[in-house]
Amino acid sequence: MSVKEVFETMDYGPAPESPAAVEAWLEEHNRRFGLFIGNQWLTPKDCEYYPSINPATGEKLAETVQAGQAEVDAAVASARQAFKTWSKTPGHVRARYLYAIARNIQKHHRLLAVLESMDNGKPIRESRDIDVPLLARHFYYHAGWAQLMEHELRDWQPVGVIGQIIPWNFPLLMLAWKIAPAIALGNTVVLKPASYTRLSALLFAEIVAEAGLPPGVINILTGSSKAGSMIVTHPDVDKIAFTGSTEVGRILRRQTAGSGKKLSLELGGKSPFIIFEDADLDGAIEGVVDAIWFNQGQVCCAGSRLLVQESIAEEFLRRLKVRMGHLRVGDPLDKSIDMGALVDKTQWDTVDSWVRTGASEGGAVFQPQIEIPDKGFFYCPTLITDLHPAAETVQEEIFGPVLVSLTFRTPAEAVELANNTRYGLAASVWSENISLALDVASRVKAGSVWVNCTNLFDAASGFGGYRESGFGREGGREGLFEYMRPAWQPRPRPDFTPEHGERDERPWGEHIPARPLTPGADGRRTDDLPEVDRTPKMYIEGKQVRPDGHYTRAVLGPKGELVGQVGDGNRKDIRDAVEAAHAAHLAKPGWAMRHGHNRSQILYFIAENLGARGEEFGDRLRAMTGCSQKAAQREVQASVERLFTYAAWADKYGGSVQETTLRGITVGVHEPVGVLGIACPDEFPLLAFVSLMAPAIARGNTVVMIPSERHPLSATDFYQVLDTSDVPPGVVNIVTGDRDHLTKTLVQHEDVDGIWYLGDSRGSYYVEYESAANMKRTWVGYGIPRDWLDPAQGEGHEFLHEAVQVKNIWVPTGA
Ligand code: NAP
Repeated sequence: MSVKEVFETMDYGPAPESPAAVEAWLEEHNRRFGLFIGNQWLTPKDCEYYPSINPATGEKLAETVQAGQAEVDAAVASARQAFKTWSKTPGHVRARYLYAIARNIQKHHRLLAVLESMDNGKPIRESRDIDVPLLARHFYYHAGWAQLMEHELRDWQPVGVIGQIIPWNFPLLMLAWKIAPAIALGNTVVLKPASYTRLSALLFAEIVAEAGLPPGVINILTGSSKAGSMIVTHPDVDKIAFTGSTEVGRILRRQTAGSGKKLSLELGGKSPFIIFEDADLDGAIEGVVDAIWFNQGQVCCAGSRLLVQESIAEEFLRRLKVRMGHLRVGDPLDKSIDMGALVDKTQWDTVDSWVRTGASEGGAVFQPQIEIPDKGFFYCPTLITDLHPAAETVQEEIFGPVLVSLTFRTPAEAVELANNTRYGLAASVWSENISLALDVASRVKAGSVWVNCTNLFDAASGFGGYRESGFGREGGREGLFEYMRPAWQPRPRPDFTPEHGERDERPWGEHIPARPLTPGADGRRTDDLPEVDRTPKMYIEGKQVRPDGHYTRAVLGPKGELVGQVGDGNRKDIRDAVEAAHAAHLAKPGWAMRHGHNRSQILYFIAENLGARGEEFGDRLRAMTGCSQKAAQREVQASVERLFTYAAWADKYGGSVQETTLRGITVGVHEPVGVLGIACPDEFPLLAFVSLMAPAIARGNTVVMIPSERHPLSATDFYQVLDTSDVPPGVVNIVTGDRDHLTKTLVQHEDVDGIWYLGDSRGSYYVEYESAANMKRTWVGYGIPRDWLDPAQGEGHEFLHEAVQVKNIWVPTGA
């Protein structure tokens, strides 16, 4: 072909990547792989093997072992043994190992990339230029944290043995996101790759062994979801880190409930891709291509819901369809291909069935007339328009190359549509008006927001979801919290084990109103005037309200004497309190939108007013708990001090500029979680109440507080302090009564975003179990006693971390 002809047709020439090195590596292993435990390849006797298929050709690449209980036990034992020394290995030594792994990844860059494409079906262009470089970057970045941990994270310790379960869409990248932070901070791991894609994890295991990592620090088990479940329920695993579907995430939340295991869940999404009329439309078209046809759309944060401003929708969709006609679908090892194969036939069938659902829901399905290979699981890039916002195809994750499109008129409508989903993983906003774009970015509920760009990732920026897209972050400083526990805290070993079937029972049983009357009251009259009754009420929306059920509880002193009475709250009281807490967000300006200085001033004011009434609060503590005057005053003083701490943090924990590889700005914003339900312990009734309320409101959350059940009067006295401290109505709501019964209503409430339950192990179990319904964030105490007076246990980063969720906003720069 002449140069002239090339210019006329603009056809791509063949650009094949050779599979030879991968084929040779597979042959070296006789196309059979064992399990990687303690740096050894283990092949259990009589084990089952199952094949790994190249989705582009349907050919078998190799076969791997199906791990069972004995292998899971062996891998966990190996990790436990290694933890003893690895957790004590100096940070610099750990850093050296991570650095060696990163270097070895780079040495075997091409082999890893080709294998990934052959095993998964993704274009070599992506595995070579995105997956593998990010894999190395994660190990370099976390080598840095291993080096810095002793100084920068000295109040923390590693968690222990981590069970890690990953999906098939980014097998290497997901492995890096999980393994690198875990081992950097001194944990050891047992990782299970997804069934569809196992081979690159096994090549990675060889790279680890080559780097000389001590045996047992990383163990890799191939196996089905059953093996995954065995890891999740293994008693000697201290934390589960999971990436996968929301459906399985929910199962894992319930399985680990009450076990004391830490849990992070990176789940599904249905992310909006919002285009305003003033956007650079050609740029936005390329953005859409990247958002939904990158990795064949099998991307958790794929921009799969296109929201286009009505004024440009027709023109934009016309241009998009033209662009779709130029996409090239074919052999993943062809370097000029845009889309490779879906991972498996089952996945192909699921995607196809969603497209048919879209059509049956009234959608107009567009698929360009482009060449699609007959062999292999290739799917045509698809656009569905004319759908209703509530259509299933618009609401549910399709996880394939299928884009649905809606229109909007105003920015407010765009935000409403963007947030009209149970997910909250990512969003992309396109506008040349930076004020508009950043305003929308701040209002969309998502863990990552890309302005005039999409699908950007870096080890220095945490990735993770809001709402049913899960909790926890991977990457960045924020991601480290997933692999550490406070230095003072032992591994929770809760003493409550749910009996078989107990999970189906109504948690905590039925509520029985408490005994309201004075024990031993004899009804004798005296000549004195009766005291003016001061029975405290609930505190909802800044008002004192009577309990809905009109029941009262007796509050008894240390000798069983009556020291007061409080309202016995019920479901309705909690519902009213949650509504008030929501309203405080929506007010103008909502509590979260007030600037830190304002929240800080209010917290100082609370401290001032509490200090002024210190004696009275001390007397109340003595009457309720029988503590000494000195202890009571110490508790009051510590409460005042704690309020100062969070007044200080109110304008100093807003987030940070992340140092990613983007030329531009990546900002990690600490957003409030939203409405928090907080159940307080009985110990230190005033100090614990303040220690939990103050960080939550300092960081812009509104709260429903359930004070100590036994000693609630410090909290009910406290609302007079709140009343005189300019706290806006609804920011703090207080409902007294049966703590567990009230917590049950809170945790089951769809509009509560997070629950803090500093109670016993049984209650902790129920909170974690019930929270799975809408994937609330939870923070529970498992009955571990906490010395609230000790600043290491009663305040600080653990509390602040629980009070925020990190949103990363990416804004590229360039004239
Ligand atoms: P999946 O079905 O949830 O499986 C994920 C992993 O969990 C696999 O290793 C799977 O093993 C294992 N597994 C399945 N059931 C299990 C159980 N009951 N107990 C323990 N382990 C179990 O998800 P997928 O289809 O592989 O991946 C697609 C999903 O991942 C999508 O929803 C996507 O959005 C999500 N994702 C999220 C992120 C994120 O960062 N938020 C990133 C990537 C993907 P088998 O493979 O053997 O079944």
